[in-house]
Amino acid sequence: MKEDKLKEVLDLFEYEELIRMREELHENVSFLKKEIDSRIEHIENNKDNICVTCGRKIKHDDHAIQLVFGPTNVKKKANFCAMDCLEYFIRKLRELDTKVDRGIIKDQNDLEKEFGDFDSLEF
Ligand SMILES: [Zn+2]
Repeated sequence: MKEDKLKEVLDLFEYEELIRMREELHENVSFLKKEIDSRIEHIENNKDNICVTCGRKIKHDDHAIQLVFGPTNVKKKANFCAMDCLEYFIRKLRELDTKVDRGIIKDQNDLEKEFGDFDSLEF
C-alpha cells in the first residue's frame, strides 16, 4: 500500500527530475523527513483532535463526540473527549443563552471572552 502510493508520486516526476533527485538524494531525504514531521505535527495539533473543554488530545480510537451548534448561519464545531466534557460545555452554553437574554453579552467580543476557557474553540 505505502509502496504503491510512493510509486504513484514518483510517476509524477519527469526523467530529468528523477536524475536530479538521485543526485540530491541525501538532501531530499532530509527534506522528506522535514515534510513528514511537519504534516504529522499539523495533524496532531489540529483543533479537531483537541477537546474544547479540557484540552486533552482526542485519540481516533476514543469515543469522541462532536457538537455542531449555533444559529443556522453561524455554525460552530466543538470536539469533546468524553460525555462529562460535553455536559460542562452544554451548561456553559445554557449560561451563555441567559447572559445574551439579559444583555450581558452584546457582541462577538463578549462572546469570545465568555468562551476564553475553551482554547481550541473557533469563532
Ligand atoms: Zn475533555
